[in-house]
Amino acid sequence: MKVDFFENTQIAFRLKSTLELKKAYWLFKLIQYRFLVGLGKVAIQAALNLRLPVEGLIKATVFNQFCSGTSAMGSQKVVARLGNLNIASVLAYSVEGLTSEAGFDESLKKTLETLEVQANNPNHPYGVFKPTAIGAFLLFQKVSEGAKLTVQETSAWHRVRDRFSSLCEHAIEWKIRLFIDAEESWIQPAIDKLAETAMLQYNKNELWIVTTVQMYRHDRLAYLNSLVKKGKKEGFHVGVKLVRGAYIEKETLRSQKMKYPNPLCISKTATDKNFDAGVAFLIDHLEHCTLFMGSHNEKSITTLIELLQRKKISSNHPNVWFGQLYGMSDHLSFNLAEAGYNVAKYIPFGPVREVMPYLIRRAEENTSVAGQSSRELELISKELKRRQSKVV
Ligand SMILES: Cc1cc2nc3c(=O)[nH]c(=O)nc-3n(C[C@H](O)[C@H](O)[C@H](O)COP(=O)(O)OP(=O)(O)OC[C@H]3O[C@@H](n4cnc5c(N)ncnc54)[C@H](O)[C@@H]3O)c2cc1C
Repeated sequence: MKVDFFENTQIAFRLKSTLELKKAYWLFKLIQYRFLVGLGKVAIQAALNLRLPVEGLIKATVFNQFCSGTSAMGSQKVVARLGNLNIASVLAYSVEGLTSEAGFDESLKKTLETLEVQANNPNHPYGVFKPTAIGAFLLFQKVSEGAKLTVQETSAWHRVRDRFSSLCEHAIEWKIRLFIDAEESWIQPAIDKLAETAMLQYNKNELWIVTTVQMYRHDRLAYLNSLVKKGKKEGFHVGVKLVRGAYIEKETLRSQKMKYPNPLCISKTATDKNFDAGVAFLIDHLEHCTLFMGSHNEKSITTLIELLQRKKISSNHPNVWFGQLYGMSDHLSFNLAEAGYNVAKYIPFGPVREVMPYLIRRAEENTSVAGQSSRELELISKELKRRQSKVV
């Protein structure tokens, strides 16, 4: 069956009023321009530093487009509206750049509070956390490199493992599967080790812990292979959030600077091929694993749907999920959910000031050079025209 349902803008934007759609149109129009995003980034940061009253403006525009609220409880209205349309919500407490032990403890507390708000609620089958929110980046790096740790670092690493276990155990108690976000390749070995140990410990009878695999890395297909083999041998269910990867510039720069081979695929086309190969591999092993495809790439999503159809795997198979970020690619999420697929939106929330780095990244990702704002604009215009023609 031909997959052509992504063009249905009536379904895609049914949660948005015409006013909200017009706002989204102008937002995507503005962030198309790289220089405006650059200028906005500097101006907003300066205004926030000077404590100028710009939070209201940010909230009414970019914040409302990409975030659900300033707190997990305050996000529940958005969550319920999505839930009514069979779209699950993954609330992501968005703080970045923590460096102190007190900061990591605070972050653990906030993440646990976020998970608790989502407890035993079918709208929240998944929760998420970012490993460097609970431990120092440099510590993850040293552990990844197999470097000898000082006494202090050893106890700091024990604290990271304790925080990690606390998140896993609470998530399971509250019936939430837990995503472990993937980060830079030079700290990922330590994260992978934690994730694999947790899957072995907690995923024996059912899926609770879900690791993330970035397919822009050329070694990750082999990694998926070994992970599934391990799962089969040691008797645990392998949960994978499959993504392309978010740190492309950092990865390339570091490998050039430190003169080691770039860990990423040589081109976007090679990444796309690797990603689709990863999807096909997991679908071939669906009795041992769950695939959560975190992507806005329409072609990859279509390829997966066609694969499921060819293999006669039902659209709502419990081991196959699709995920997009809140505020982006609603034409994919809403039409997928309407067609019966399992869909979740990643929804960041937090005080305006604290989610600014996240919002800036979303804006940068959507510039005309890097991103897909032209596709968003095309679909929003189409829907606005459709609504207008109905009024007349
Ligand atoms: C629900 C969800 C969860 C996510 N979780 C994580 C996470 O835990 N960790 C993480 O790192 N990212 C995560 N991401 C972000 C993700 O990795 C991508 O950066 C983002 O989704 C864009 O990729 P895409 O598949 O949507 O599609 P596209 O827009 O088609 O692909 C863009 C991606 O292709 C790759 N790429 C672009 N140019 C090149 C090139 N020249 N050479 C090689 N590769 C190239 C890069 O990975 C780039 O991000 C998540 C995304 C979603 C939707």
